[in-house]
Amino acid sequence: MNYDCVRTRFAPSPTGYMHVGNLRTALYGYLTARSTGGKMILRIEDTDQERFVEGALDIIYNTLKDTGLTWDEGPDIGGPYGPYVQSERMSIYKEYALKLIESGHAYYCFCDKDRLEELRVLQKASGQAPKYDKHCLHLSKEEIQAKLDAGIPYVIRQNIPTTGTTTFHDEIFGDITVENNTLDDQVLIKTDGMPTYNFANVVDDHLMEITHVIRGNEYLSSAPKYNLLYEAFGWEIPKYIHTPPVMKDATHKLSKRNGDASYQDLIEKGYLKEAILNYILLLGWSPKGDQEIFTLQEMIENFHIEGISKSPAIFDPQKLRYINGEYIRKLTPEEFHEKALPWIRKGVSKADVDTHLIAQVLQARCEVLEDIPEQLDFIDTLPVYSNELYISKKMKTNEETSLEALKAALPVLEAIPEAEFDVEHIHAALFDLIAKLGVKNGYMLWPVRVAVSGKQFTPGGGIEICAMLGKEESLARIHKGIEQLTK
Ligand code: GLU
Repeated sequence: MNYDCVRTRFAPSPTGYMHVGNLRTALYGYLTARSTGGKMILRIEDTDQERFVEGALDIIYNTLKDTGLTWDEGPDIGGPYGPYVQSERMSIYKEYALKLIESGHAYYCFCDKDRLEELRVLQKASGQAPKYDKHCLHLSKEEIQAKLDAGIPYVIRQNIPTTGTTTFHDEIFGDITVENNTLDDQVLIKTDGMPTYNFANVVDDHLMEITHVIRGNEYLSSAPKYNLLYEAFGWEIPKYIHTPPVMKDATHKLSKRNGDASYQDLIEKGYLKEAILNYILLLGWSPKGDQEIFTLQEMIENFHIEGISKSPAIFDPQKLRYINGEYIRKLTPEEFHEKALPWIRKGVSKADVDTHLIAQVLQARCEVLEDIPEQLDFIDTLPVYSNELYISKKMKTNEETSLEALKAALPVLEAIPEAEFDVEHIHAALFDLIAKLGVKNGYMLWPVRVAVSGKQFTPGGGIEICAMLGKEESLARIHKGIEQLTK
C-alpha cells in the first residue's frame, strides 16, 4: 500500500463512558497520524442501536477535545469520505453485501431463532463449537426470491471457505494463521438491515482509505474473517495494529467496577487531563529513552508503532499518581490554585482562610486533587488528639519539652500584629526564639505543628499552618495544647 498519506481512524461506539483503553486507541491513532503528517479520522460506529447510550456522543467529543486529540475528518467537520456516522451509511453496506452475494462470498440466511437454537444445542451436545451449518447456502435462486417476496426475515452471512487456512498479519502480534473450518459464517447484515460491526468496519476502512487500523485486541480473533472479506472484494488490506488489553492485575481486565477505568472517573478524582494522557501513552508503549513525561508535541515527536507492547498492560495507579504529581508541580501557582480551590472548599468551610497559601503549600506535596480535602481536615476544627503525638524520637521531643516549647512560643506569636500574621513574620519570630533558646528547630516546630493541627502529618509545617489558621485560631490551639499537656 502506498503510505504517502497515512490515514488512521478512531471509531468509537457511543455506548457510554470513555474507557482508558478507548482513549489509548484514540491516542495511538492520533500519534500515528500526526507523527507521519497523516490524517486522523473520527468515525462513529452506531449500528448496534441496542447498545446506544444517550449522552455518549458528547462524552466522545468532549474527551477528545479536552485532551487535544484533534481529527481532520469526522461527523462534525465533514470531509471527502463522509458521512462519518455509520447509521447514515446504511445503503452503502447493503450495496456491498449484495456484491458479495453475487460473487458467492455471502448468502441470504432465513433460519429463524428456533432453528439456530436447536443447532446450537445439538452442536453443544456433541462437543462441537457453535457454528452456522450453511443450511441456507444451498437455496436456489428461486427459493430465495420466493422467501424475499414473502417478506421472511433474513440476515446476510459471510460464506467462509470450509477448507484451507487464512493468515493474517498484525504489526504487533505478527502472523496469525487459522484453519478456515474453525471460522463461523458470521452475519454481515442483520435482520433489521443494519450491518454488524464485523462488516461495517471493513467496508468503511476501505472506503475511507484507512492505512493503519489501530484498535483493541478483542478484535484480533475476528481479523482472519476481515481478511477474507478484503480478499473477496479484491481490496488491499490495511496495516493492523491490535493493542494489548488494559488489565487491573494479571488476570482481571480493568473495568468500570474498579472506579478508575474511565477518563471521566479519573477527571472526577482530580487527575489532570495532561497527566492522564501521558500515563495512557505509557500504558503498553515504551519510549526509546528514559523520558517519561511528554507533552503532546513531544509524544508526536517520539511515537513509533514498534514501541507498542504485545503483553497486557497493567494499570498502575501509583504510577498514574506519580505522573499526576509531576504535572501538578509544573502548574503556575495561579493555575494550581484555580484547580485546587473546589477541592480545598470540600475540606474547608471556614470563609476567612487564605486559600492561596493553602494551595501554595499543597502544590509541592499533592499528587491527586482528590487527596486535598482530607489533608485539610484539621482546619475547620481541631481534631481530638493524644499527647503521644508530641513524642518524636527524630525531633527529640516529648511531652515535657513540648510543654516548654509551646509556653515559650505563645507570647512570641501573640506579639505579632494580626495584620502581619503571615509565613514570613511567624517564621522570623519563631526562628528568633529558637536561636535565643539555643534549641534545635524541631524542638520548637514539632510541638507547634501538633498543637495547631492535632496531627502528625500535615501539608506544610507549623509555621504555614499558623498562617493558614490566622492569629486568633492559632493562639487558641496553642493554649489548648498547653492545657492538654499540663493535665
Ligand atoms: N466501534 C468499535 C468499538 O468501539 C471500534 C473498533 C475499531 O476500532 O475497529 O469497540
